[in-house]
Amino acid sequence: MGMVEENLRTIRQQMDLACQAAGRKREDVKLLLATKTVPLEKLQMAMQAGETLFGENKAQELRDKFPLMQQYHQVEWHFIGHLQTNKVKDVVKYATLIHSVDRLKLGQALHQQLVKENKTMDILVQINTSNEESKFGASPESAVELAEQLSRFETLNIKGLMTIGKLNATNEETRHCFRLLKSKQAQIRERSFPRVEMDVLSMGMSGDFIVAIEEGATIIRVGTRVFGERYLPDSYYWNENARQDD
Ligand SMILES: *Cc1c(COP(=O)(O)O)cnc(C)c1O
Repeated sequence: MGMVEENLRTIRQQMDLACQAAGRKREDVKLLLATKTVPLEKLQMAMQAGETLFGENKAQELRDKFPLMQQYHQVEWHFIGHLQTNKVKDVVKYATLIHSVDRLKLGQALHQQLVKENKTMDILVQINTSNEESKFGASPESAVELAEQLSRFETLNIKGLMTIGKLNATNEETRHCFRLLKSKQAQIRERSFPRVEMDVLSMGMSGDFIVAIEEGATIIRVGTRVFGERYLPDSYYWNENARQDD
């Protein structure tokens, strides 16, 4: 058994156990594999081991990987990275869910592109629950207002919320981030905005997915624990320098 397959076995077992312990149905939690910088051969291993849901952080990488993967199998791609308004075209083309809508301007750019293509798009609103400067996401205080503003674009179906938990933190600190996300979900749900369903909570990564499942995650996003360490630091994807258009 290869490394990717072995890692997947372990993670699936941990997901089973976490669901059992939390009294949740296993089918209510999806595993998304975060594939930034991961070479195609490893993606194929994951696919051969039965995985079908992948997430990319950059429009360019999504565009490159999509056709290569699609020729082997139908897999589903989500977009999980910071999205610049001038890159929405490729993302709208290849992704079925965008996890990282964190500002009105991006919603506007998506809407314009979708109107052109006569399409609709499922999205999540990304919230920065850890107050860390280095990460994207709308502030928790602005979450309800942003959801309301985004709900005015009739091309966008808001399916829920996404967050990146505090990194290198204690379980309790991470738990606090996930609970905050869940409380925002409840607040937004209460308002019954049009096209806003709020059933999806995308939270939990390699270091904190068990806590995330305990706190109600419906999608966990795992990279390192399946594919091994990345050769580029996360700051390449997450840091302030990537904020070029807002
Ligand atoms: C890289 C990434 C992940 C996965 O992180 P790991 O710690 O490698 O599991 C999850 N979500 C987002 C948004 C990411 O950029």
